[in-house]
Amino acid sequence: MEYWRDLSSWLKETYGRRLYRVPLDAGMTCPVRDGKLSSQGCTFCAGGSGSFAIAYDGQKLSAADLTYNHQDISAGDYIGYFQAYTNTYAPVSRLRKLFVSALSDPLFAGIDIATRPDCIEEECYGLLQELKASYPDKFIWVELGFQTATEKTARAFGRGYDNAVFEDCVKRLAALDIPVIVHVILSLPGEGEEDNIRTMHVLNELPVSGVKIQMLQILKGSVMARQYAQDPRKFPLFTEKKYAERCAVCLGHLQKDIVVHRLTGDGDRELLIAPLWGTAKTQVINDIRHIMKEKGIHQGDLL
Ligand code: SF4
Repeated sequence: MEYWRDLSSWLKETYGRRLYRVPLDAGMTCPVRDGKLSSQGCTFCAGGSGSFAIAYDGQKLSAADLTYNHQDISAGDYIGYFQAYTNTYAPVSRLRKLFVSALSDPLFAGIDIATRPDCIEEECYGLLQELKASYPDKFIWVELGFQTATEKTARAFGRGYDNAVFEDCVKRLAALDIPVIVHVILSLPGEGEEDNIRTMHVLNELPVSGVKIQMLQILKGSVMARQYAQDPRKFPLFTEKKYAERCAVCLGHLQKDIVVHRLTGDGDRELLIAPLWGTAKTQVINDIRHIMKEKGIHQGDLL
């Protein structure tokens, strides 16, 4: 580990090579969008994925179908990433069709399912367990949009479930030997450094495999975009330097074993209203590394 446990090194250690996510859009929605819990969506969210996602209904894919593909990447070096919206929010028969198709596709080394912890039904846990046994050469990961351990903030952005639901879900997935990757947003309105550190500590106490950390982004089409247009002072967005410093502190408070899958936003550039520095990903990563080097800290050192 240089300063943090980065994804590409972990992939090489674990699978012997780098792997690349292929975003898939299986036409899902979310209970905070379709009216079951709410109809506005999480207030920062502009939709489930960028314009790169492939509309997917279980069809066989080839490298030629990918919106990006690299000539030096072989079939089997991709991950089928069910990214758009909540990818376990459908009848289990449909989930079976989607997941079996992707796991059977030689293009994919495994699948990565983005979802919410309150949307994995009993039958779905059973399906995941069954698929793990049926496809021993493939992997299944699950990504959970948690964002923060501060319940007050979660209520304010309309997450729609409490921490206990998340904690129970992480434990159940880990018991099935399914790596869980957790999404966290820094600079949510009303949150300070202590909230972010506490979120790291909550993750440390759970069998979490990986984390995706990002800055708050105001995206066109989101509820926050409207709120931001009315009163930007309610959104004290970080400068790039402040974000890099906060990331360095959070990484210092994150268990050394947890793999860092991402440290920047990966939203659609076309949708980004603010902060615009969020598109300079390499710069952000370099600054985080620089700050950690200057302070002499590595992931987990501040625990
Ligand atoms: S953040 Fe996730 S759960 Fe919330 S509205 Fe967006 S896709 Fe749905």
